[in-house]
Amino acid sequence: MLKVENVTKYYDDFRAVDNLSFEVDKGEIFGLLGVNGAGKTTTFRMIMNLTPPTEGKITFNGKKIDYDVTDQIGFLTEERSLLTKLTVKEQMLFYGALKSLSEEVILKRLDKLLERFKISEYKDRKINTLSKGNQQKVQFISAIINEPKLLILDEPFSGLDPINIELFKSVILELKEKGTSIIFSSHRMDHVELFCEKLVILVRGKAVLSGYLKDIKKDYKIKRITIEGDVSKKELQAIEGVITVNKNANSYTVNIKDESYAKNVFDYLKTRNSITKYAVEEPSLEEIFVAKVGEAYGE
Ligand code: ATP
Repeated sequence: MLKVENVTKYYDDFRAVDNLSFEVDKGEIFGLLGVNGAGKTTTFRMIMNLTPPTEGKITFNGKKIDYDVTDQIGFLTEERSLLTKLTVKEQMLFYGALKSLSEEVILKRLDKLLERFKISEYKDRKINTLSKGNQQKVQFISAIINEPKLLILDEPFSGLDPINIELFKSVILELKEKGTSIIFSSHRMDHVELFCEKLVILVRGKAVLSGYLKDIKKDYKIKRITIEGDVSKKELQAIEGVITVNKNANSYTVNIKDESYAKNVFDYLKTRNSITKYAVEEPSLEEIFVAKVGEAYGE
């Protein structure tokens, strides 16, 4: 289990991470979310022991993360760090050796992974001749060639097309099934939503929301009603408990203060002639994220 306890990081006088704590269990997928500059990469760098925390403690399975433990960790960095003049195979032999793997093990795993990522034909090609997406696959393979127990993914889906996003997702889910603890950052809430069970939202290095996604959604009082049919935006807005009404191409989205106000909206709809859809739904993670980050900035 990865344990981050009361971690604070200062760069000179600037506090980039502020008293952050969270845990990622075996086989759990954890999302580290936040706008640009929130402190995600700094947190990853501290977990990898690339920069020390100013205060607090980070352990993996009870041990400080040092040279011995890094063999059990895989890291996909945001800035992507491939040795582009090498071939895919040479790069993997280099990375694998850094993780204390024998050449035989590296080559065996590499063949399997290249096949899984559908790029077997590029094994002896120089990395700088591959497309961006394929380079990202190579980078991802180097992060998992050591079959890590802890996998850290900084923006793993950026720059990928939808087909490859699905491919990456399915590989990540396979790793989870095998017991790998996975921690990843993303700006795309739709990815996070489909994917992670537990998360923390950072604002200026501070956690403004954390916990299991299903609890966060349940506890978030504001609900969303989707309506299709003949209604008036003005009349919806006048209903007690309604916060906002948005008109979409073929529907209306109404946010209400809490579920108890759904009845008021329903009573109004009964006075209309043709309603084809009425659904009370939980808010999306995107809505919660925007609200929480806005609140933290005092908007
Ligand atoms: P992004 O989503 O844009 O990658 P992030 O959440 O990963 O952002 P960090 O890169 O961790 O954010 O940066 C957090 C804050 O710390 C930013 O304000 C950044 O300018 C600052 N920072 C990061 N690295 C350093 C450094 N080496 N020296 C000084 N300040 C730094």
